[in-house]
Amino acid sequence: MNKNELTIVMAGDGGVGKSCITIRYVKQIFHDHYDPTLEESYRTQVEIDNSVVTLDIIDTAGQEEFKVLRDTHLSQGDGYILVFSIIEKSGLDEIEKLRGQILRFHDIDPTEPNTNPPFPIMIAGNKSDLEEYREVPTETAKQMADQWGLPYIETSAKNGTNISELYAECVRMVRKYKKGPTT
Ligand code: GDP
Ligand code: MG
Repeated sequence: MNKNELTIVMAGDGGVGKSCITIRYVKQIFHDHYDPTLEESYRTQVEIDNSVVTLDIIDTAGQEEFKVLRDTHLSQGDGYILVFSIIEKSGLDEIEKLRGQILRFHDIDPTEPNTNPPFPIMIAGNKSDLEEYREVPTETAKQMADQWGLPYIETSAKNGTNISELYAECVRMVRKYKKGPTT
């Protein structure tokens, strides 16, 4: 496969903003209503750190009846973006589960310390514009991500805050991981 093409898989609980983040990034717009059952993939060409890359972004929907499809998606990413919403702490459990599943799909033991360089998974706390309804303190999410050796970033699909940074960091992680260990 052409190494300038990367697949990024969006995963997380329903309603956390996976579709809105993706659409904000790919189309620079915010949809207030987006079909929660829709499973979509988007292809976009971007330049990150002076290097052009084509991204296939897979926006998963995650219903049970699509379990087989979801498992396929969870195994086919070069990089992953795990999304929860800062206004709903239940989303953290889903992130934890997904992280374990993704690593196992890639033959990595999730109970071991992360590989060096880390397997490319970004943790995104979305809806940062809704600060007044926050249920997950930044510190809590950061500690969780730290413990996994993964980067944590807070985003708002509504305002566009940290959306391009989120994908850029994910691409950087993928590039580092593909290069292999630094000696
Ligand atoms: P998904 O199920 O994870 O794909 O979630 P969606 O992207 O469909 O978003 C679910 C709901 O959250 C929608 O009503 C969105 O308008 C809203 N939403 C998504 N991202 C944000 C955000 O950053 N800020 C706010 N205030 N609402 C958001
Ligand atoms: Mg969606």
